Amino acid sequence: MPQENLLGPEGEGFTGSLKILDGGRISIAALALGMAQGALEAATKYAKQRKQFGQAISEFQAVQFKLADMATQVEAARLLVYQAAWLADKNNVRFTRESSMAKLFASEVAVRVANECVQIHGGYGFIKDYPAEKYYRDVKLCTIGEGTSEIQKLVIARQLLGKK
Ligand SMILES: Cc1cc2nc3c(=O)[nH]c(=O)nc-3n(C[C@H](O)[C@H](O)[C@H](O)COP(=O)(O)OP(=O)(O)OC[C@H]3O[C@@H](n4cnc5c(N)ncnc54)[C@H](O)[C@@H]3O)c2cc1C
Repeated sequence: MPQENLLGPEGEGFTGSLKILDGGRISIAALALGMAQGALEAATKYAKQRKQFGQAISEFQAVQFKLADMATQVEAARLLVYQAAWLADKNNVRFTRESSMAKLFASEVAVRVANECVQIHGGYGFIKDYPAEKYYRDVKLCTIGEGTSEIQKLVIARQLLGKK
């Protein structure tokens, strides 16, 4: 191969491609975070609108607890995503573990939050008049693409155990 066609040092292509994944995983984590935030906002809005038994369903503590859990998980995911992105912006800092943690946590949170968003919408969560069903369908990609959640756990464990 002509020297000018090399993208990096010869023999280090695999390591280089893994580094690309470190950055890509932050993108998927951010995508998941955005969908989780959207699902939380949609669920909150609907809970305040929908009336059952003479009051908004947001007045029921069972619904409030769901919203509180959703908001707390979204906030924790946000902090992991921001930390990974902050590290990625620094030069010569390894962020393999942090990007995998952000991707794993944000994508799993997004699936749980989208699921609860559908639940809060009741039957309307299942039809296309509201965004809940789309969040539920779309968000699952985030636990699969750029390495499944199981693979993120392998990456995190390897980093913890000092393996390459
Ligand atoms: C909508 C969408 C868009 C995509 N876009 C792209 C793209 O643009 N570019 C691209 O390259 N790829 C893309 N992909 C592919 C995606 O990266 C792969 O689907 C993903 O990496 C999982 O690989 P797989 O489908 O072969 O599943 P498999 O590797 O067959 O995994 C199946 C199951 O086995 C588990 N598993 C596999 N190996 C292990 C292991 N060693 N230890 C424990 N569990 C394991 C997995 O966690 C999973 O639960 C896309 C996928 C989707 C759904």
